[in-house]
Amino acid sequence: MPDTPLDPVVEKRLRGTRLAKRIYAPRTLGLLVGGLCIGSALHELPTPPWVWTLWSLQILFWSHLAYWRARYHKSPYHAERQNLGADSLLGGFWVAAMHFNVLPSIVVVTMICLDNIAVGGTRMALRGLGLLATGTLIGMWLISPGFPNIVPSATVLLCSLPMIITYPLVIGYITYLQARRLSRQKTALIELSRSDGLTGLFNRRFWEDQVAANLPTDSPATIALLDLDHFKRINDEHGHGVGDQTLRTLSSLLRQSFGDDVLLGRYGGEEFGLLMPSTTLDQAWTAIQRFQQRLRHYPPPPPLSRMPTCSIGLAAKSPLTRNHEQWLLQADQALYSAKHAGRNRICIDGAPTSQTTLDLG
Ligand code: GH3
Ligand code: MG
Ligand code: MG
Repeated sequence: MPDTPLDPVVEKRLRGTRLAKRIYAPRTLGLLVGGLCIGSALHELPTPPWVWTLWSLQILFWSHLAYWRARYHKSPYHAERQNLGADSLLGGFWVAAMHFNVLPSIVVVTMICLDNIAVGGTRMALRGLGLLATGTLIGMWLISPGFPNIVPSATVLLCSLPMIITYPLVIGYITYLQARRLSRQKTALIELSRSDGLTGLFNRRFWEDQVAANLPTDSPATIALLDLDHFKRINDEHGHGVGDQTLRTLSSLLRQSFGDDVLLGRYGGEEFGLLMPSTTLDQAWTAIQRFQQRLRHYPPPPPLSRMPTCSIGLAAKSPLTRNHEQWLLQADQALYSAKHAGRNRICIDGAPTSQTTLDLG
């Protein structure tokens, strides 16, 4: 699935081509098993040679011609709708050509309605029925059928069975495949709407939503805002590509260092948010300090000789925290204090608690 939306014209064309592809196999199968069903009824009637010729041509060539037409048409979707209309018109003609032999006629009409409903719902089914009726009238005019054959012969019954059994199964399976594809696309879209494109962490909106959702819970929780120190220098000295790679490396270390319970988000450019549910301030401080030490020795992307250091602001949820904005503001103020106090340190409510050497290498 493409990340960026396509041009609507290209998108419509793709949709039409996909529809034509989806219909090609069932139409080919439907013509073969439907042809057998219709042929068995024609065989019992004084069918003129031109009708047999039309029957053979439709079975042998129609699905390939219809697919080719839709694929190379300037509007494949429109062409495929016309093809379905032709299916209905021809189906109506065969009903008359079979002299309304009840069983194969019902089979043909039902399968054509099934195709139309599957592609375009009730509107398309009504249009299909109209074209079926028109095809039947044309057939009656050309052939002048006799009285309908109510009770099918054993041959007609046996020759109708493949269509009755296989066609609905194939359409059902195709519908299932499509539903599964749509469900996967939906999951991918949800994933996409939650994540940050560069790092794969949660994006700011989703991460903040999780912070807000955590606030009313009874268990303790701590948030950390982490900002890389002097990150701009990396961009300036080594280019944006190295800067991007550094952000990805940091994200990967964050993932490795914190379990699935900690929700990691990209809060801004080189700023990250950590939501640590069921974690007290002390526990969070220990975990963050361990992370900072790991960062010091973590291999940086080339050509850097060291990963940049980071400043971190911590804020724990308290009964006095009114809303998640206030909670985030506390962490932000703590981060500001860490920056102000010289960077490369953790601050809790403005009190610096650790310090290591700052060296960008
Ligand atoms: P400080 O220690 O005060 O945080 O300094 P700093 O240089 O890290 O912070 P500053 O706010 O001055 O600069 C942040 C830089 O981050 C500027 C911006 O170009 C860069 N940046 C933001 N988003 C991205 C990104 O997605 N990729 C890259 N490569 N750089 C980014
Ligand atoms: Mg920074
Ligand atoms: Mg920043």
